[in-house]
Amino acid sequence: MSDIIQLLPDHVANQIAAGEVVQRPASVIKELLENSIDAHATRIQVVIKDAGKTLIQVVDDGVGMSVTDARMSFERHATSKIKLADDLFSLKTKGFRGEALASIAAIAHVELKTRRAEEEIGTCIKMEGSQVVSQEACVTPKGTCLSVKNLFYNIPARRNFLKSDNVETRHIIDEFQRVALAHPDISFSLTHNNNELFQLPPSNQRQRITNIFGGKTNEKLVPVEEDTGIVKVSGFVGKPEFAKKSRGEQFFFVNNRFIKSPYLNHAVVAAFEGLLKDKSYPSYFLYLDVDPKSIDINIHPTKTEIKFDDEHALYAILKSAIKHSLGQFNVAPMLDFER
Ligand code: ADP
Ligand code: MG
Repeated sequence: MSDIIQLLPDHVANQIAAGEVVQRPASVIKELLENSIDAHATRIQVVIKDAGKTLIQVVDDGVGMSVTDARMSFERHATSKIKLADDLFSLKTKGFRGEALASIAAIAHVELKTRRAEEEIGTCIKMEGSQVVSQEACVTPKGTCLSVKNLFYNIPARRNFLKSDNVETRHIIDEFQRVALAHPDISFSLTHNNNELFQLPPSNQRQRITNIFGGKTNEKLVPVEEDTGIVKVSGFVGKPEFAKKSRGEQFFFVNNRFIKSPYLNHAVVAAFEGLLKDKSYPSYFLYLDVDPKSIDINIHPTKTEIKFDDEHALYAILKSAIKHSLGQFNVAPMLDFER
């Protein structure tokens, strides 16, 4: 018998990786927004058509790419963000896996236009099924414009699995809001089928929250501040009387990255003890800054779960900071007859 193991061709490996990174149009939005943020963009515009199924376009005014980098950006494990394994413990960027563009280019028609500030002429590359279809010099504003067309055109099973336009748009809006909340200083817009859904000017945390969730949110926000050696906490919790019947507005950001944490959620709920009606959920927008060395983000390709070195300390700090804020702002326990 001859040997039977072979290395997979790149386009096959990319397509497999894409299965993990890209579940739906919203995953593409997340990856592209994160790339724009890592490129120090101050203004990011998102345009989608048909819930992102036919077009997702992200335009930024970031640092752009050289001709060679533009071509390299579609290679798998090609990244400008880390060089050594040790760099994983001091991450300041959203990306580091060097997989997103390679994955997206394996399962969609992709067009990249990019120019660095110091260059007069930019680069335009078209990709299809991991192959370069064309590459030429082009006139384009400083920054990067990435267009992703016909997502999953070559994976019918995935394409058919996509939900209705309403559901997919909801996922996109959720992802967009998470990134916009994590970066209030950056201006964002989102346009769907020529309707402008969001136009968010650069602002602070409080303004960004009210720009997204409406002016009435402002009076419901109770500020939370704490700074210990382990963590710096900022942001807001919603007053208990505005708690919702469903978990909607619950956001944790760790080092400006949206994360899900049932454990920390529990800390918030514990701080609200005695203040909430049964089956209601407090709103919160909590920003935690920790030493990048004390967390591990590399647990899952989508990076929404992270591991903390000292989860118990974080829990205690968060809970006491919120209790303190609720007390300070005279949010008294509900009287029995109100229940
Ligand atoms: P990662 O973000 O993990 O590095 P990606 O596949 O998302 O991997 O991107 C590959 C590389 O392409 C990035 O490291 C970056 O150098 C470059 N790049 C991607 N998007 C942009 C952008 N919007 N502006 C400038 N450079 C970008
Ligand atoms: Mg990336």
